Amino acid sequence: MHNLATECEELIKDKFKEYDEICLINSEKVLNAFRKNAVSFIHFNSTNGYGYDDLGRDTIEKVYADIFKSEDALVRNQFISGSHALTVALFACLRPNDLMLSISGLPYDTLHEVIGIKNNPSSLESFGVKYDQIDLVNDDFDYAKIENYLNNNKVKLIEIQRSKGYSTRKSITIDKVEKVIALIKKVSPDTIVMVDNCYCEFVTTKEPTEVGADIVVGSLIKNLGGGIAQNGAYIVGRHDLVELCGERLTLPGEGKEVGPSLNSNREVLMGLFHAPEVVKNSLKVATLASAMLEKLNYNVEPKWNDERADIVQNIIFNDENLLIKYCQGIQAYSPIDSQAMAYPSDMPGYDDKVIMAAGAFTQGSSIELSCDGPLRPPYIAYQQGGLTYEYGKIAVINAIKNLENYGE
Ligand SMILES: *Cc1c(COP(=O)(O)O)cnc(C)c1O
Repeated sequence: MHNLATECEELIKDKFKEYDEICLINSEKVLNAFRKNAVSFIHFNSTNGYGYDDLGRDTIEKVYADIFKSEDALVRNQFISGSHALTVALFACLRPNDLMLSISGLPYDTLHEVIGIKNNPSSLESFGVKYDQIDLVNDDFDYAKIENYLNNNKVKLIEIQRSKGYSTRKSITIDKVEKVIALIKKVSPDTIVMVDNCYCEFVTTKEPTEVGADIVVGSLIKNLGGGIAQNGAYIVGRHDLVELCGERLTLPGEGKEVGPSLNSNREVLMGLFHAPEVVKNSLKVATLASAMLEKLNYNVEPKWNDERADIVQNIIFNDENLLIKYCQGIQAYSPIDSQAMAYPSDMPGYDDKVIMAAGAFTQGSSIELSCDGPLRPPYIAYQQGGLTYEYGKIAVINAIKNLENYGE
């Protein structure tokens, strides 16, 4: 299996070079934002209680705004998860009788009860917010249908989810996001464009705010936390919308002024500093896994030489046992809980049983090497993350061995 890995590394070496170049550009972005905002030792200080005048927290938000070339940012450890930040953004922007439209098909599983696709007495629907959806066609936006819809309906907010979630579609590249936003802004300039950017940050050199998105959301236990931030999420974008999100996360009248950083500022800054490199390592691990598994005749998406929009690698097993075995292999070669056996189980917010290999320093962190998938056909493994290439490579080699019951 080591020979196959070496053979694949030779095959994919130009991809690795490409990732190195992207990493350099994103590192420059991060460092320039640190320099511009004079990030200093004093910003590692913390507040507790109400969290008034948290200099570090406020500086982090300026740094995020600069990296995203956006007007404002809300970067908080009071966000439980990426889904929570998405929920805050939706409730902040939408009012009774408003219409929300998803143009990337069915949104991420955890948003179903938030929107009211699945009944919940606290959903947006329960407040009278309407929802509609336009599916992707051939993994691209249905541009004609979107244009026609916007000409005939007053849409308050459009949601675009870039990463595939637990679907079988491809993730959406920044070029496609740019093209569809140009169309939306031409037909319906007042419609708010919100992008779920989970898993996509720093995969290329442009973020959605640079191509016209009004508001962009992601998790800190994914790409931008660099494996160091222990929780939290971010929202960046237009100043007026980020203000609304602040008022919704805390309370009307206090908004972004409150929220103690509780000793997280140093980790959030350090994680962001490492993020370009960690995303690069994740891309390398994903590309290696893709090449090796394809050589062994497994069905993979993306292929090693495809353009990537996120750090997620799919292996389409078409077999429940193979999915479980691969995840168990990843778990056994994780730094934490390597002795634990991963089994499928029910998860809050998800409809099917899910198997999750997550031997991580942070619970649920998926910028650390992790592999999971819902127990439903076609039994797809969603592998992502890898703090270093070497640890990722070791785990992938051994997960494949577990699959094939290979010896050395
Ligand atoms: C991970 C993810 C989220 C948020 O998930 P959390 O586990 O709540 O942080 C939302 N959308 C997509 C597409 C994701 O991949």
